[in-house]
Amino acid sequence: MTDHARPERLIFHIDADAFFAAVEQASNPRLRNRPVVVCGFPLEHGVVTAASYEARKFGVKAGIPFFQARALLPHGVFLPVNIPKYLSYSLRLLAIYLRYTPLVEAYSVDEVFLDLTGASEPPEVLGERIRRRIFTETGLTVTAGAGPNKLVAKIATETVKPNGLCVIRASELPGRLAPLPVSICPGIGPKTAEVLQAAGITTLGQLAAVPLVKLRSVFGLWGEKLYQAARGINNEPVLPLDRRPPEKSMGHETTFPTPLTSARRLEGAIWVLSSKAAFRLREKKLLATGVRVKIRTRVNEKKIETRTFQRQLPVAATCETQLAPVARELFFTRWTGLPIKGLGVTATGLIMEEAARSQLSLFPEIYPGADNLEPVLDRLRRKYGEDILFRAANLLAGE
Ligand SMILES: [Mg+2]
Repeated sequence: MTDHARPERLIFHIDADAFFAAVEQASNPRLRNRPVVVCGFPLEHGVVTAASYEARKFGVKAGIPFFQARALLPHGVFLPVNIPKYLSYSLRLLAIYLRYTPLVEAYSVDEVFLDLTGASEPPEVLGERIRRRIFTETGLTVTAGAGPNKLVAKIATETVKPNGLCVIRASELPGRLAPLPVSICPGIGPKTAEVLQAAGITTLGQLAAVPLVKLRSVFGLWGEKLYQAARGINNEPVLPLDRRPPEKSMGHETTFPTPLTSARRLEGAIWVLSSKAAFRLREKKLLATGVRVKIRTRVNEKKIETRTFQRQLPVAATCETQLAPVARELFFTRWTGLPIKGLGVTATGLIMEEAARSQLSLFPEIYPGADNLEPVLDRLRRKYGEDILFRAANLLAGE
């Protein structure tokens, strides 16, 4: 049934073009129209984190090592990252978006979603006005996509980068999406794209032609998402800043029916608890800056002793591969070999991902494998439930 009383949703996705490099150019007129490359620090060991469009013409792009960028562009302007400067521009952009709606979701340091449902102007006019205002006030160019939901808005942006505006209306779905490559869809990474391509599916139109049962049989629950994505269906709300959960810590505990003395099984339990906490962090877009371990020891027949230990993490973390080793060390340096009745692992000192995200992406080299492992584990959990990892850890422990 159609709800005639409710106006069609109008969601904008706005993404600043070549953000870090563009901020450097906007804040220093001498760098305008020049090939600017921003790199991790120190430069000699750094990786390119942003390249201006002038630099991209020479093949310089985010992710390549400094020395390679230098070889491609000997006369380029190479600058070390300046996080405080980028964050200050990021806040200036937010302040501008908030003039148009209080429903602003900071999706990353340079990307937002705006809920402009009910706007009195056509989206094309509104989008151009916002883009112009940003350029006038900050000197930055942004690309804006508008659609009936976050998914379509983000896809719209991708089609017109940089310095563009694209509006896709609900009535134009799924036709407007059909010719686009599946990889344009957020969530369809290289692995999924590869599986789809092996089946001859390279466009969203081809994906839309695959029956739901077939997608489910290959991808499980994820298949449903693919089915909806191909049609531009998405109901996620725009989450404004003040609606973010202000949780300070996030953890999991377990009690063993029979107290454990096997180091291998205890290690497995620590890993599983860390991984559950990490999964929840990622689901809530939070990062931990510390880890706390709770140990319940059976001292004798009558007495259970509970102690907690904690430690700061070297970098804000969201992966089990970062939490578990610290939790493991906290436990094994204290464990005297007495039977363990219960264990808890808690991620502490939580911060919002968007605040730390820029820093994370600046140092991809210190997150080996993190980008590959976590999405795979999360997919397994969504497909088989959280306990899949408990079962796997028990198998490893020889159960
Ligand atoms: Mg951007």
